[in-house]
Amino acid sequence: MNQPTHIAGATCRDAPVLKERGQREVFCGLTGIIWLHRKMQDAFFLVVGSRTCAHLLQSAAGVMIFAEPRFGTAVLEEGDLAGMADAHEELDREVDRLLSRRPDIKQLFLVGSCPSEVIKLDLHRAAERLTVKHAPHVRVLNYSGSGIETTFTQGEDACLASMVPVLPKTDARELLLVGALPDVVEDQAVDLLTKMGIGPIRVLPAHRSAEMPAVGPNTVYACLQPFLGDTAAALDRRGACMIQAPFPFGEEGTTLWLRAIADEFGVDDETFARVTDAPRARARTAIANAAKALQGKSIFFMPDSQLEIPLARFLTRECGMEAVEIGQPYIHKGLVGPDMDLIPAGPTISEGQDVDKQLDRVRAARPDLTVCGLGLANPLEAEGLTTKWAIELVFTPVHFYEQAGDLAGLFSRPVRRRELLKLEAA
Ligand code: SF4
Repeated sequence: MNQPTHIAGATCRDAPVLKERGQREVFCGLTGIIWLHRKMQDAFFLVVGSRTCAHLLQSAAGVMIFAEPRFGTAVLEEGDLAGMADAHEELDREVDRLLSRRPDIKQLFLVGSCPSEVIKLDLHRAAERLTVKHAPHVRVLNYSGSGIETTFTQGEDACLASMVPVLPKTDARELLLVGALPDVVEDQAVDLLTKMGIGPIRVLPAHRSAEMPAVGPNTVYACLQPFLGDTAAALDRRGACMIQAPFPFGEEGTTLWLRAIADEFGVDDETFARVTDAPRARARTAIANAAKALQGKSIFFMPDSQLEIPLARFLTRECGMEAVEIGQPYIHKGLVGPDMDLIPAGPTISEGQDVDKQLDRVRAARPDLTVCGLGLANPLEAEGLTTKWAIELVFTPVHFYEQAGDLAGLFSRPVRRRELLKLEAA
């Protein structure tokens, strides 16, 4: 290894955290359904919510109108919200209708929303009742995607965490990769680890319910996303053990993530180098090309995707950027601590949001690039600031070596576009 896992001197892990609890501008956890339904091919996500929730899903996943959808909304009408109807009975009828029409569904997620939380509809009880009714063909689980006190990536965390208690038990020593990545990226990770002789490798979530991994005291797991805190806690409760590492963004992050797993499985340096040298070199070249426009540029992360700290590590250490503020909705040092160890103290580290105060800081710093939610990007662009939508980072393949250049490119494109606009205006 020629890379440090901890840098000398003060790092962001030790830096004071600016905690803010004010108005926030983020999507809700229902958004996760858009990528989860593609991954779990015999699952259905039934949002128990309002017409607003239905509209959010339909507009965010408009392409799905061409396919038999794997999500839908059981709309709570005004009568339900006023407590005038038995929402449980209606939900049961809705589920019966859905499952009789769609025998391909093997896992049904009842997804809570703001309205179902406000009327305190007990979806856990509903899921238990419906599991008994529809066993053994369908497993019914529930989680909340409500926008109250959550951010959009927490939908995936809540979904995976809901699955952990019902995973079968095993005493086998297995590696579990946790997080929903595009298949092609997941295959790359599994391929690299398999070439090192590591296995068996399981993935949560699996494509189909019959392939869901088992878990137990000899399971070691590595998270693929930094927003899976509740899932990690649920796996810990099942006796599994987490491998801590920086997240696999960029050449360095990927190498350190792989190295941590390789160490756990006793892979020697020669084997590690044989498997990783070529893709590492490709990643370095791709990043160097894509990051030319980023060298020396400043970046401000508003809290949105929970990917902010690992991405700040990648952009400052591999792309030559300077972070002004790194905001993250929640900072879970058990997950992002290894990334924080690699960022020298200096940038403001903030947790949560008070959007007006944070916008004042953005305007004062006038960074070269601001990573933020969709709702904030247009007003900031109108003020002459360059922005990047955080949500694109979860819809685009960005993990591991082969995507490292694309990841840098996601940030360099808006910077280059702004420079071209300036040149044209001059
Ligand atoms: Fe809106 Fe809440 Fe429904 Fe999300 S869950 S679409 S925030 S009402």
